[in-house]
Amino acid sequence: MQIPEIKRNILLNPGPATTTDTVKLAQVVPDICPREREFGNLMRSISFDLVRIVHGEDTHEAVLFCGSGTICIDAALSSFLPEGKKALIVNNGAYSSRAVDVCKYYGLDHINLSMPVDRPVDLALVEKTLDENPDIALVYTTHHETGTGVLNPIKAIGEVAHKHGAIFVTDTTSSYAMIPIDINEMNIDVCMASAQKGIQGMTGLSFIIARSEVLEQSANYPKRSYYCNVYRQWEFFKRTGEMHFTPPVQVAYAARVALDEYFKEGEQAKWERHQALARVLHEGLIHLGLVEVIAPEYQSQLVISVAYPDIPGWSFESMHDYCYERGFTIYPGKISNTESFRLCTLGALVPQDMRAFLLVLESYFDGLNDCKETAE
Ligand SMILES: *Cc1c(COP(=O)(O)O)cnc(C)c1O
Repeated sequence: MQIPEIKRNILLNPGPATTTDTVKLAQVVPDICPREREFGNLMRSISFDLVRIVHGEDTHEAVLFCGSGTICIDAALSSFLPEGKKALIVNNGAYSSRAVDVCKYYGLDHINLSMPVDRPVDLALVEKTLDENPDIALVYTTHHETGTGVLNPIKAIGEVAHKHGAIFVTDTTSSYAMIPIDINEMNIDVCMASAQKGIQGMTGLSFIIARSEVLEQSANYPKRSYYCNVYRQWEFFKRTGEMHFTPPVQVAYAARVALDEYFKEGEQAKWERHQALARVLHEGLIHLGLVEVIAPEYQSQLVISVAYPDIPGWSFESMHDYCYERGFTIYPGKISNTESFRLCTLGALVPQDMRAFLLVLESYFDGLNDCKETAE
């Protein structure tokens, strides 16, 4: 078979991330019915390794879904809240706001503990809310708020949740397999992610990693969704080795290779690589006179929010198009009170990619100056 040359795009958006050619090509496999044992074995090995990434082999299990990452927010909230109890959404950004929306759509009793988006959540406020509301059974927050790049203190939030008898659910979609996570040490009962982010796989496979007891307990909770119920999906997979409904077959083959590449690179080395990418960007932004929105001590190093510069002739669209035409994709911001754009360090990238991007960005800005001088 002739393997086609695949153009390598540098994605600096917050997922899907740049993938390796080996992961892309892993999708080209003989057609197979996913009800075959061979495919079941593949799914079991993927599930096992997904739990291994967060060191939960002895305590937690993975439940796979066919869908983008939001399916996990939907499934976790609708599946893990017992009847007559409340969810506490610790909310300092767009992704926790999405969790609040999920609660509203399902009619779940919840508290939206809304906080400023430009810094980590206030732990004292979480504790106070738990003290005042003994009927909270589920505390939820986003580990890394992808909208801003702010990292939340999930270990401490999980500890407070447990002290109050609640389970701790956290959206780790944009930190999983990038920032090292020890699921037990960080007091996580349920976390979630999606194949197109940290593991550098393809879109369409998402997963919840849940403590076995929490899964078992949820057998008796209301089944609020037919398709997205975690217990139903878990129980069916355990019994049959198959996902309840058709899985994303080719995406699963890509995920297998992506996981192999993850373990080959290594947890710590991968995290250091992402941080090295961020360092190149931080320095480059200073050089270009661009200003970051989030204080350095609050940043994840996986998403950098940059304030819109005040330069005549500048627009996000023109900058985006200039970069895009040269193989680099940048992304708009998601901070309501500050106009910003985002640069992310997800994906199969190396520092040289960031340097190449910064050169493109510099030539874009040089072009703006030339225009200005011509006009004068
Ligand atoms: C990417 C992401 C999701 C999932 O978003 P989709 O658009 O459904 O893929 C969920 N939570 C966080 C924190 C994310 O970064």
